Amino acid sequence: MGIWNPWHGCKKISPGCANCYVYRRDDSIGKDASEVNKTGDFDLPRKKNRQGEYKLTGEDGVVYACMTSDFFLKEADIWREQCWDMIRERKDLEFHIITKRIDRFEKCIPADWGDGWEHVTICSTCENQDRADYRLPLFLSLPIKHREIICEPLLEEVNIEKYLETGLIEHVTVGGESGDNARPCDFNWVKEIRRECIRQNVPFYFKQTGALFIKDGKQYKIERKDQMSQARKSNYSYYPGCTDAEKIVYRTPNKDRLFERLSNSKFRTGFHLSDEDKAYVNEKGLETIREHAKDFIGKRLAPQNPDKDGIQTPTKGHPVFKAQHATATCCRGCLEKWHNIPAGKKLNAKEKEYITDVIMEWIKRQM
Ligand code: SF4
Repeated sequence: MGIWNPWHGCKKISPGCANCYVYRRDDSIGKDASEVNKTGDFDLPRKKNRQGEYKLTGEDGVVYACMTSDFFLKEADIWREQCWDMIRERKDLEFHIITKRIDRFEKCIPADWGDGWEHVTICSTCENQDRADYRLPLFLSLPIKHREIICEPLLEEVNIEKYLETGLIEHVTVGGESGDNARPCDFNWVKEIRRECIRQNVPFYFKQTGALFIKDGKQYKIERKDQMSQARKSNYSYYPGCTDAEKIVYRTPNKDRLFERLSNSKFRTGFHLSDEDKAYVNEKGLETIREHAKDFIGKRLAPQNPDKDGIQTPTKGHPVFKAQHATATCCRGCLEKWHNIPAGKKLNAKEKEYITDVIMEWIKRQM
C-alpha cells in the first residue's frame, strides 16, 4: 500500500470528523490540524530514486491519496489540478481517494475526466444514516469508474442496500472508531451491512473493531494494536464466491511459494513451451507477449462473470494460454483456488497486473 499526502490539515464537516485522527495526532504535538499546507511529498508520484526509478511503483499496490486531509477540500482547490496531472501521468498506479466531500466532486475534476479514469477509485464515507442518504445518491449520479463505500467510524445502524442494488458499488469497508474518546461500534450494525452486501453480492471488508466494541449487548475496550487483528480473526469479511473462511480476507500468494505449489501439481507441470512456442516468444519479444497476456486477461478473465468461465482458455495456440494453465490463471475458479482472488467480482488493475506478472514469470522460466 502506498500513501500520498500532497497536503496536510483539514476542516471538520460531519459527525465522523469529531475524533478525527489527524486532529488527535497533531494535537499531541501542539500542531493545529485545521491549517492546511502543502507537504514535501506533494509531487511524490513523480519522485524518483537515485537509480531513476519511481519511488511509488505498482508493487506498492493501491496508492491512497490524502490520508491526512480530504482530496476535495476547498482550501486545496489551488493545488488539486497539479495532482490530477500527476495521477494522469501515473496510469500504472491505482489511486484510491477517500472523501467526505463527494458534494464537491464535480467542481474539482479535471476537464478531461470524462466518465472517470480507470485507475482511480473514489471512496465515499458515510458514518451514519443521515450522511449515507445525503452522500450516496450524489455519489451514484457522478461520472466515476470505480466506487467504494466506507462506513468508518460506524456510529449507528446504517442501511445502504438500496444504493448497493444499483450494482455501481464495488466494495464496502466497515470499521469502528479509535482513540481515547472513541464512540462505540455495535457488532449488530456491522452484521447488518454485511447482510446487505451478501444479498447484493458486494465485497465487504470488516476492517477494525474500533476502541469500544459492543457484542451481544456487552461493551469491550479493545487495545489499538488488537483492533484490526480482532476484526480479521472474526472472519467476518465477505467476498462473493469465496466460501473458505481462511481466504475471506484475500491476499495473493508470494510468488516463490506459488511456483513451489504449482511444481507439485501433476496437471500444472504437464504444460511446457514447445520449441515453436519459444521461437514465437523470441520473435515477438517479452514486451509484446506481455501485451498479449494483458489483452487475454482483460477480455477472458476480468469481467465479473466471464463468458464460458471454466473453459475460456484454450490449452494451446499461444504461449500465454499454456502459461495460464500452468499457473492456474486460466479461469476464475482456478484464480480463486490458487491465487485467492474471489470469483464473482470484476478484476481490478492490481489483480490484472499480478496475473500478468505470474504468467510472464512462468514464460521466462520456460525460455
Ligand atoms: S474529513 Fe477526514 S481528515 Fe478531514 S476532519 Fe474529517 S475525518 Fe478528519
